[in-house]
Amino acid sequence: MDILSDDGTQLAERISNWEDIFSRPRYQKDVDHDAVQLVRILGHYTMEEVGSCGLSNCHQPHKKGFLVLCKPQNGLANHFETNIGNQCGKNIFGVTFDEQTKNYNIERNTILYRDSLVDAICKVDDFRQRVHVLLKDEGGEAAYARVRNAIKIRGIDRSLVSKLERRAKNGDVEVFLRIAATKRDIDLEESRMGRKLSAEELEDLTQHESLGRISGVRAVTNYEKIKSELKVELPQLLDELDELKPEELLYNDLKSWSKRIGDLDSRFREVEKCIDDCKRFSVASNIEFINANKEWI
Ligand SMILES: [Zn+2]
Repeated sequence: MDILSDDGTQLAERISNWEDIFSRPRYQKDVDHDAVQLVRILGHYTMEEVGSCGLSNCHQPHKKGFLVLCKPQNGLANHFETNIGNQCGKNIFGVTFDEQTKNYNIERNTILYRDSLVDAICKVDDFRQRVHVLLKDEGGEAAYARVRNAIKIRGIDRSLVSKLERRAKNGDVEVFLRIAATKRDIDLEESRMGRKLSAEELEDLTQHESLGRISGVRAVTNYEKIKSELKVELPQLLDELDELKPEELLYNDLKSWSKRIGDLDSRFREVEKCIDDCKRFSVASNIEFINANKEWI
């Protein structure tokens, strides 16, 4: 886990085991909590093995805890570090410890968010290139236009569009021919049962024969995403990102930006899926299949 610098502005070192803690130059064990003041939390650790709490009245073995910076109550000696188990910090230092934990999380996340933002800003041109590749080289623009034309202008019968939209939402891609039971079959079954068949039982007698599957049906509801994401939303986000000065942003802005850039990859993947659906949907044989079987869609 990362350790904060004393002023909380950098992630200085990493620790991964108890020895890393106990061998730190300023580390002290058997610390009398009444004689010290908590300055700040430097790290929140989770170890594989148990180790002792650094407080003299505790020594509780634990795996999760905090590396903390302390100073003596009398203020005469230098700052030093010790470690405190997850529970005892709160039990002993109470509200102060909750506040310190909150501060630590804010300080640490501020650094992490800012780093990831700086990283993303360095990659703005790569992201822009990715938008361009998806539109042109990967054929996003053309696939969008083909699906739009098929739905809005020609290709797919108007009456089918809402049925296809429903199928897109349900992920229902297989088309079945429905062969209702003959009167003779129904009579036979009713005489066997000795009563009239219910609607459900009648439906069970109906045969369903698969005619085939619709390819890329999700394109019907999603194709506009290609345009909205690649032509509007993502370029706008990248322009904004390009203008940002992460060093001037405060915690809440850093946090919301971190989320926006964290979503970037999944947004690109969504658009990729969408382009793939559009390509598969707009293949001539698929459109022909849909029109040829329109009464069963
Ligand atoms: Zn303890």
